[in-house]
Amino acid sequence: MNFDIDRLLRRNIRNLKPYSSARDEFSGEAAVFLDANENPYNSPWNRYPDPHQRILKEKVCEIKHVPTEKIFLGNGSDEPIDLLFRAFCEPAKDNVVSINPTYGMYRVAADTNNIAVNQVALTSDFELDAGSVLAAVTAETKIIFLCSPNNPTGNALDNCGILQIISNFNGLVVVDEAYIDFCPEKSLLPDLDKYPNLVILQTFSKAWGMAGLRLGMAFANEKIIEVLSRIKYPYNLNILTQQKGLELLAGEQLKNEWVKIILKEREKMIRNLLLYPFVIKVYPSDANFVLVQVYDPRGIYNYLVDEKIIVRDRSSIALCEGCLRISIGSPEENATLMEAFDQLI
Ligand SMILES: *Cc1c(COP(=O)(O)O)cnc(C)c1O
Repeated sequence: MNFDIDRLLRRNIRNLKPYSSARDEFSGEAAVFLDANENPYNSPWNRYPDPHQRILKEKVCEIKHVPTEKIFLGNGSDEPIDLLFRAFCEPAKDNVVSINPTYGMYRVAADTNNIAVNQVALTSDFELDAGSVLAAVTAETKIIFLCSPNNPTGNALDNCGILQIISNFNGLVVVDEAYIDFCPEKSLLPDLDKYPNLVILQTFSKAWGMAGLRLGMAFANEKIIEVLSRIKYPYNLNILTQQKGLELLAGEQLKNEWVKIILKEREKMIRNLLLYPFVIKVYPSDANFVLVQVYDPRGIYNYLVDEKIIVRDRSSIALCEGCLRISIGSPEENATLMEAFDQLI
């Protein structure tokens, strides 16, 4: 493996000097701030937020055991996905490789940046075929996107296959671990230091229950993080998100309890679903949702909408014929779903 970040970066990004904000030039304690054209009234909302999110990053460092230089915080993990394209992929020239089916945002970010996506099908049981992924790489491939546990299939990919890809590709490998809190033992985060081309995405939107705050993370070697930080909007995380995020991150215990309940509910949901005659298959899940193959997915979807229950119809997606994706809700919500299904038989 021959990883050289300068070779990989777009030339304009390599030479880019970032916007220098008032809060960059002076960030210490002071009595009077007259440097940023802020309004002196309406404290504390009148002040720009910390562009480096220092306090929040310290907290994330403590939770994730990753030094702050290797942490990027963004407006959801959608932000680092887009920034990776902008930093490394030359529009109309470079390409990325992704698995199929997978999370739709990689494709949207690729289209926005005019970057082609070479999609590689997972096997019929949604496993990763590392050889086919590597075979899809061309001279113009800058990033390989993997997602584990994968959305919408729910399964974690085999880490041996992922590591084989990381070790045999000169570009970046992004492993999206949005659902990793539901199977923490499968995370590649402990291996981060071994692989200079590995970018791990995580989020506080799922297990931590903060989807509305928009707070996502990228972990990577400090050179990659430096690039993302250089091209982000200076104030990408507003004061409310930084403060509320910090406050809620004190509740790791609570998050662990939620995960425990959700995992128990998931197993109950799987057992119950298998009892219905319209259910063909429930795929194994490492996440907080299950992919369920049914007869007449559209009919069942529409019936549930009439019952005021919304699930995700994934039946038109490759390898997901007939499938609905169902998030694991509270015990009460899950019981409501089962009562609705009871009326179908
Ligand atoms: C939900 C999800 C995310 C989360 O995105 P945020 O922007 O952090 O809310 C990222 N990746 C995958 C695969 C997801 O399913």
